[in-house]
Formats: sequence, C-alpha cells, structure tokens
Amino acid sequence: MIVISGAKALTTRGWLEADVAIEDAKITHVGVAPDGEHSRIDGTGMILGPAFVDLHTHLREPGESWKEDIETGTAAAARGGYAAVVAMPNTDPAIDRGEVVDRVVARASAVGQVAVALAGALTSGRAGEEMSRLDEMYDRGVRIFTDDGDSVGNAGLLRRIMTYLKDRGDVVVAQHAEDPALSAGGHLNEGMASQTLGVLGIPASAETSVIARDLELVADVGIHYHVQHLSTARGVELVRQAKQAGLPVTAEVTPHHLTLTDADIRELDTNLKMYPPLRTPSDRAALVAGLSDGTIDAIATDHAPHAESEKDVPFEEAPRGVTGLETAFPLGLAALSGDLDAVFERMSITPARISGLSRHGRPIEVGAPANLVLVDPLRRWKVGSFASRAANSPFAGWELEGEVMATIVEGKLVYGDGA
Ligand SMILES: [Zn+2]
Repeated sequence: MIVISGAKALTTRGWLEADVAIEDAKITHVGVAPDGEHSRIDGTGMILGPAFVDLHTHLREPGESWKEDIETGTAAAARGGYAAVVAMPNTDPAIDRGEVVDRVVARASAVGQVAVALAGALTSGRAGEEMSRLDEMYDRGVRIFTDDGDSVGNAGLLRRIMTYLKDRGDVVVAQHAEDPALSAGGHLNEGMASQTLGVLGIPASAETSVIARDLELVADVGIHYHVQHLSTARGVELVRQAKQAGLPVTAEVTPHHLTLTDADIRELDTNLKMYPPLRTPSDRAALVAGLSDGTIDAIATDHAPHAESEKDVPFEEAPRGVTGLETAFPLGLAALSGDLDAVFERMSITPARISGLSRHGRPIEVGAPANLVLVDPLRRWKVGSFASRAANSPFAGWELEGEVMATIVEGKLVYGDGA
C-alpha cells in the first residue's frame, strides 16, 4: 500500500486535506489511512489530483528512435506528471493500419512508463490521398484520428472520412490546421519579427483558412472535430463561434504558445522553431483568454523531440518542434494564473474526456483507478536535465514555479522519490 499524506486533494467532494491510500492500482482510502506498514509519500503543503493526460505527444517510435522512443518519451511524461499520452501517428511507418497499431501497443506495454493511447492517421501514409485503414485501427481501440504534421488538404476526402467515421460513433477527427500553399517556405510567424530578422514568415491565415473550411464540413457532417495546437487569435474566435453555434468542436493549445511570442525570437534560436510558429503578443493574449473561458478545452504539449545535431543548424534548415512534457505543468499553471482547478480541468479531466481515456482524469474517490500526480505549486526549479532523449526545449535554463513531485500510474510510483 502507498499512502500519500498531508496533501490537499482534488476529490469528487471538492478539495480535501486527506490521506490517500492506494493498493492494487486503486484508491482504497480517502481521509485517514489505515495503520500498518506502508510506503509513505509526504505531501504536506502539496496538491494531489488526477494525473495529467496529454492529447499530443510525439514518441517517435517506430522509425526515429534517435530523437525519442517509447521508453524515454513516457519517462518524460511521467516526470511531467502525466499518466497517459496520446501518441501522434507521424512515425515511420505511419500509424495508419492495424498492424502498426499492434506493434506500437506491444512496445508501449513492454517499456511504457505511462499509458499510451494512439492517434491513427486519417490517410494512408499521411499522404493525404486515400483513406487509411480506419476500421482496423478503430477495432483496436483507436478513437482519435489525425494526419498531424500535415493537414488533410482535400476537402472531399476529409468529408468522406468524417462521414465514414461518424457511423462508428465516439470518434474524434483532429486536424493540424496548416495550408501548405500558405505556409510553404516560411519559418516563423509573418509579421514584425519575420521582417526584422529577414526570414520568410507564415501568415495566420495558413491556420485559420483550414479551420474555417473544416468547420463547414463539421456543420455538414456533424462529427467531433478537434483543432490541434491552436495558435492565432482569429482561430480562437472561429472556435468560439462554432461552439456558440452548437457544433461538436474542441481545441487544444500548447504551453509554448501560451508563454512565448515571435518577439522572443531574437537570436534565431532553433529551439524557438515549431509549427504552428509562435505568434504575436496579441495572439498569445487571445489564447490565454480562450483557455480561461473554456473556448480552448485543453493544454496539449505537442512534445516534439529532435536530436541536438538536427537542431544545431541554421534556423531555416532546422526541423520544427520543441519538447514539452517536462515543463508543461508550471507553464500551464502560470498561463492559468495559478488556478489549480483550471489546471486539472484543462490538463487532466477534459483531455481524458476528449480522448475517451476513462481510467484517467477522474477526481479522487475510493475505487477509482490510481492515476495521480502530486505537485508543489509554489516550488521553484531550474529547467536543466531532461528524462526525454532530447533537450530541444525553449525553456532550458528558465526558473519556473510549480514542480511535479510524484506521478502514480495504475498504483505504481513512476516518478518521484522512491520511484
Ligand atoms: Zn501538428
């Protein structure tokens, strides 16, 4: 039995200062723990809640294990307070059929530190030309589909996929909204920063034109549509209007888009290069406001590890993406002005609901699966080493407030003292 004592816990009855005991992957006591020999975690002055769930993780396996693999990626997740991640399908080969799903699921159950749910590709090989083996993946439990890394550009194909999946029910069609005809050749947001630095920019319309088109398809077909890594004020407005119109739409935002803007790219540091690019300060303000008022449902990391040698090149040549799992909590906490209810809502409860991970994102109660995170919201720490294989974080060297102290997955301590 593990007992976490003295923490303030987010329970089904609200916040309670209570001992929480865990045995056989379940929560067995909330209140006073029974006597006896237990392995104890002192949570005095800390916060205990449902562990985080990431809707957007790149584990890079199969095919790019020099960047990350399931073992190191899930270790990074555990360190970040996550008990479950949704792995993106832009691997090599792409996760676009049953056979690849089986392979990744087998690896994840052998070496994964946290639960790994898979997102399946919408199109074969993510090539945007024909439907992937959606039925094979659905039959293996895949519920989120996306060609992440690329948009599905062909509206006719996307509409056919939406119609096909709608009959299955319970499915999310997620979109990496980027019109390549508008983004091609660009490396950062089109605006003051791109002009000052003399680097070709990517307009906000590369994102918003895809979202606007997709929302018409959603109004037509009526399937749960999820906007990945929203980055623009106009995009937030489109999602807000769609929700007001009653469309089944959800959206996510990354910690880096909530924290940084294109004005931070002064030295062309490649750890500030990602897609979508960091936008303007007013876009960032709109993302923070949208997250606070619920227009944006979830914080998702878009954890995108790359090797140091790949990022150690001129800005224009560097691959897109930054790591995010290990710094998400303090950045999310800051973006939400220290509101812990909102942190658990946007980083655990809602992402678990969107991804259909019913063992996760549940406030604490007796009998619930023990997927928990212990955090110290006031503790300051310096971002240094990483559990991830990669270190391409724009926050390296930053001092952040709010630290993950322990992560428990299905009753097992996977991160923290004694793990
Ligand atoms: Zn993406």
